[in-house]
Amino acid sequence: MVKDVGRFNVEGWAARDASGILSPFSFTRRKTGPDDVTLKIVYCGICHSDLHQIHNDWKRSRYPVVPGHEIVGTVVEVGSEVKNFAAGDRVGVGCMVGSCQHCDSCSKEQEQYCEKVIWTYGSTDVDGSVTFGGYSSLMVCKQSFVVKIPESLPLDAAAPLLCAGITVYSPMKYFEMTEPGKSLGVVGLGGLGHMAVKFGKAFGLQVTVISTSPNKEKEAREVLGADHFLISKDEKQMQAAVKSVDYIIDTVSADHPLEPLLNLLKVNGKMVIVGLPGKPFQLAATGVVMGRRFVGGSMIGGVRETQEMLDFCGEHNISCMIEKISMEYVNTAMKRLVQGDVKYRFVIDSAQSFKAAL
Ligand code: NAP
Ligand code: ZN
Repeated sequence: MVKDVGRFNVEGWAARDASGILSPFSFTRRKTGPDDVTLKIVYCGICHSDLHQIHNDWKRSRYPVVPGHEIVGTVVEVGSEVKNFAAGDRVGVGCMVGSCQHCDSCSKEQEQYCEKVIWTYGSTDVDGSVTFGGYSSLMVCKQSFVVKIPESLPLDAAAPLLCAGITVYSPMKYFEMTEPGKSLGVVGLGGLGHMAVKFGKAFGLQVTVISTSPNKEKEAREVLGADHFLISKDEKQMQAAVKSVDYIIDTVSADHPLEPLLNLLKVNGKMVIVGLPGKPFQLAATGVVMGRRFVGGSMIGGVRETQEMLDFCGEHNISCMIEKISMEYVNTAMKRLVQGDVKYRFVIDSAQSFKAAL
């Protein structure tokens, strides 16, 4: 069990520099405050954003970086003011652990756009320390940033819903990309992309996967239920699909041209970018003007909407396709993620990997 030394002793893995190599790292977290929920981390998903951040792709990483924002676990202790959670509950913590709670974004329950948002890792916490994420044994989090995992969902396959799931669900709802019978193009069949296919099918859409990987076609159609599959590098296929979809979600993590994707949109079509490649996009005015097309962006989702998404998944039996790994495998997993070699999310078996720490 947790040792009583004024703060919790926590075992984790951290990257120490932009080489991104992760290795064991011991640290402490605050004891459970009146407003806190403390959970034993059972699983944590590996998001491509973790990969971007261990390599300092966005130029704001603060080392040591303990990544991980797709955290699920069981509550071990709650503070005196916590009424909605109790020891033993199955809970999750996503990309955020705090926000100002009174700005315009917070008042609309869109804490992810708060100027003072505290990210789960790499942010300055309320006590001035740098936050450490879920590649670790234990988490302490304010109750307002903790969500409940529906009993019907397996805990391991639910972990990536905390980021991959909500990141595609939120824009589909906000930009009204859910009208049954309409068509959705999903660009990039990775962690986010495979969830967009699943939500698309659950909303009654026709789904076209737009991918660089021919070897993903069979499974995309047969397991995920995609209706069409386009190879983005095949100009003939892309040409034949011009003006064929109403909506597009672009989840690609690397630099790529937008124009061939915009051409796939029908008149009045909407494209939402959620991937975060390093270089700026080029966007020709004609690509949007001719056809009254819309291009937008979206970042994760608020806490209330994350709970809504989890409940939707619980009702519709939606979870992620995962490859479960031990913490020791993480550096190999990161290399495979660079190559797009995962179907479709690595999830760390934290309880097993850190069992000596608890
Ligand atoms: P992922 O699992 O690695 O999937 C990305 C997919 O993009 C790959 O599977 C691959 O799909 C495609 N791809 C990779 N390189 C490509 C290239 N050079 N050209 C075209 N396609 C390429 O990553 P993820 O975890 O889903 O995250 C995707 C992106 O979203 C990352 O940039 C991540 O940081 C970002 N993200 C954003 C938010 C947000 O709030 N907006 C939240 C989480 C993550 P195919 O093999 O099918 O081509
Ligand atoms: Zn993420």
